[in-house]
Amino acid sequence: PAVIVAIDGPSGTGKSSTSKAVAAQLGLSYLDTGAQYRAITWWMVNNGIDIADPAAIADAAGKPDIVSGTDPAAPTITVDGTDVAGPIRTQEVTSKVSAVSAVPEVRARITELQRSLAASAAGGIVVEGRDIGTTVLPDADLKVFLTASAEARAARRSGELKGADVQATREALLKRDAADSSRKTSPLAKADDAVEVDTSDLTLPQVIACVVSLVEE
Ligand code: C5P
Repeated sequence: PAVIVAIDGPSGTGKSSTSKAVAAQLGLSYLDTGAQYRAITWWMVNNGIDIADPAAIADAAGKPDIVSGTDPAAPTITVDGTDVAGPIRTQEVTSKVSAVSAVPEVRARITELQRSLAASAAGGIVVEGRDIGTTVLPDADLKVFLTASAEARAARRSGELKGADVQATREALLKRDAADSSRKTSPLAKADDAVEVDTSDLTLPQVIACVVSLVEE
């Protein structure tokens, strides 16, 4: 039977690297749901939608065609056929994604895409995000909630962004997590039946091994 693994947590906890590696090791598909929210945000920005206007975002939510490739060795994301893997990582998109993903019509649309991808992944799938265990796939076989200290998360993120200011990165990251945790529709949250793993003092290979062993239990 197909194995469904939900991995949630705030940014900078090693969620993407862990999820991709676990999927690859276990021969499962992989879905980065943050990339989907970034893709719809990228489309809103490019189409002149006012990010401060939730009604305008809601009206446009059904327009872009967002397609995710779920091979963990080479995940892809396109909007209306255009590869947006690079553009969705800009600071502009990062600073606007929380506002866009707080709009219920956006969440309904993206959640539907996520459920259909999970249902069609033959061998199973690792899905990473903020609300996968609580809302998107509440019947997942395993739910993991990754945490880490603000210091560890900021250090990792500024390492990824090559030379970015750690303090500024820390503030931007905490601000985004606060917005994601306080929105009304499916906020960032740990499911009651999720296993919490604090990655602050673990190496990436250790986190991967830990999650693989939880799947195999
Ligand atoms: O994981 P990543 O940092 O790429 O996610 C970008 C943003 O997408 C998050 O800050 C959050 O606003 C949104 N998101 C969400 N629900 C998810 C995954 C991401 O709201 N399941």
